[in-house]
Amino acid sequence: MTNKNNKKPNDKNSKKDVGLADDNLLAKVINLTKRRGFVFPSADIYGGFRSAYDFGPVGVLLLRNVKETWWYSMVQTRDEVVGLDASILSPPAIWEASGHLENFTDPLVDCKACGVRHRHDQLEDKDTCPDCGKKGEMTEPRQFNLMFKTSAGPVADSGADVYLRPETAQGMFINYGLVANASRKKPPFGIAQIGKSFRNEITPGNFIFRTREFEQMEMEYFVPPEESPKWHKYWCEERLNWYINLGIPKDMLQLREHGPDERSHYSDATSDVEFKYPWGWGELEGIANRTDFDLSQHAKHSGKKLEHLDSETGEKYIPHVIEPAAGATRAMMAFLIAAYDEEEVKGEKRTVLRLDWRLAPYKAAVLPLSKKPELSKKAKEVLELLQPLYMVDFDETQSIGKRYRRQDELGTPFCITVDFESLDDDAVTVRDRDSMEQDRVTTKDLVKYLAEHLKNQ
Ligand code: ATP
Repeated sequence: MTNKNNKKPNDKNSKKDVGLADDNLLAKVINLTKRRGFVFPSADIYGGFRSAYDFGPVGVLLLRNVKETWWYSMVQTRDEVVGLDASILSPPAIWEASGHLENFTDPLVDCKACGVRHRHDQLEDKDTCPDCGKKGEMTEPRQFNLMFKTSAGPVADSGADVYLRPETAQGMFINYGLVANASRKKPPFGIAQIGKSFRNEITPGNFIFRTREFEQMEMEYFVPPEESPKWHKYWCEERLNWYINLGIPKDMLQLREHGPDERSHYSDATSDVEFKYPWGWGELEGIANRTDFDLSQHAKHSGKKLEHLDSETGEKYIPHVIEPAAGATRAMMAFLIAAYDEEEVKGEKRTVLRLDWRLAPYKAAVLPLSKKPELSKKAKEVLELLQPLYMVDFDETQSIGKRYRRQDELGTPFCITVDFESLDDDAVTVRDRDSMEQDRVTTKDLVKYLAEHLKNQ
């Protein structure tokens, strides 16, 4: 969370970002993702529901892979980080203590001429409406709280107020003591969580960059107070490298330190991993030093002790917290943009998603050359050999050339073609997505071949 009152204008707003006619790359990615089943506008048959999206058959796989690679690097391969899945519905007491009821606001202005609402901090010319172009018609900015409020139970009195969480982080803070005891961890240690968050954004837009319902991948790393600068630096490097390691080119990423006026109410230092979106640099992930702000606040408001007792020194302290906070859906968008490529092959345009194999929705596709029953049967055997290991697509419609193009657009690293020779030599042709080179591989060696080649792709 950046300071909602002092945000840098890093993304454009309102109607302009819906059409994107002037932005070719983003328009192409949006088109491909709808056509191929990654991302659909929500409630499409009812004309769409602005800024909400549904993830289709391959989008759900890509999003899962983004989350799984994050979990792998943040939890599975670290003995000092444990997981959590906290509830989305939460009582006002949490948000009172965390400061969100008071501070989680954006400055809102209305255009008196056309009625469209804008975020004051994102307006280049504060006096002119970017929608109707009228000057001098903007209202004074007023603070608008971004939390979604609803009520629990049958009686909608004020005692029934609940909030949809605007960040997953508070789940880690309120469970700090329970997790530390149950997992027998002591600082430095982390609690990681992936889940949905909700913000009533004034100006959602730019596809899945800013939506009102989105998924976050956050980790709260509890450290001795004096070690917090060291760990902040460490996590900035780690998180930047995570994106590079998953195939985003270095020149599309940068770390940017927040100025003091930009930081959230709890933050002592924040750096963003920024990505070069088609409209310019913008936040992909924030790495904040949240100090002991949240634990101290919850201790004060709940009356419960949230401190660590060092059994060796006898010292008691409230840990400080370093928080790498990423958006799963926003990261998915960055991976799609970075992976999108077009090239000319034998005079024809080829569109290919050069996704890292770990992110690719399908690791392979099995394609029988024709629909003849004996080929289908053989191809199904190959499919069943691979299905326990990977997500594998199966496609026997249209020409083989069209099927290759479709898999290229899905980012599938390997196409496995079963032809009539396969019936005699028990071998298949494996085509590499990026080089388009083909190898003949016996089905006996296929599992080993894929395991080796996927890692090297
Ligand atoms: P922004 O400055 O873009 O509003 P933020 O600083 O408020 O983001 P954080 O509170 O740091 O965001 O949230 C951590 C991450 O969650 C962000 O880096 C982003 O990837 C993701 N995120 C935040 N808000 C949204 C949103 N409305 N839609 C999609 N992802 C979001």
